[in-house]
Amino acid sequence: MKTVGVLAPQGDFEAHRKAVERAGARAMEVRAKDQLERIDGLIIPGGESTTMLKLLEAEGLTSAVREFGLKKPIYGTCAGAILLAREVTHPPQPSLNLMDITVERNGYGRQIDSRIAKIDGDFEAVFIRAPIIRKVGESARVLASYGGDPVWVEQGRHMVTTFHPELTEDSRVHRRFLEKL
Ligand code: GLN
Repeated sequence: MKTVGVLAPQGDFEAHRKAVERAGARAMEVRAKDQLERIDGLIIPGGESTTMLKLLEAEGLTSAVREFGLKKPIYGTCAGAILLAREVTHPPQPSLNLMDITVERNGYGRQIDSRIAKIDGDFEAVFIRAPIIRKVGESARVLASYGGDPVWVEQGRHMVTTFHPELTEDSRVHRRFLEKL
């Protein structure tokens, strides 16, 4: 059985752990560099991307996670998508640059801090202070959109969603990630 690590210094890692198990793999919380050697793929959960960046830096995990991503799959949810992006705006901030996408933080604005929406593909998608994916590189593929903006994108071994599939019972997003391991 494959093992998926869930990056756990911050964010909703507990819900992802359960979602990975529901989708049929083993899950393990990752807080230190050496734990990356024991996993087949990594999930960077939602949370606050600025805080997450600081904690990764403090644990010496930033370059280790980037190097992990050069060989193995990473799935970023919401703040995790912000970390994986090539470019971040509103405001600009550093990122791991593992996927050719540009994201605008808190892109839906204050008035829709949080909402449940039906997106194409008949998904119930939970958005929480979500970023908007503004640009998608040629080698990236949009798997679902909402209101004309991509909300689920994959590029090679990596994948992001701006919504939170770990908060619903629908396992399709996690199952797709497991297929990449
Ligand atoms: N708004 C957060 C950020 O910019 C992301 C929110 C989330 O992950 N649910 O980092």
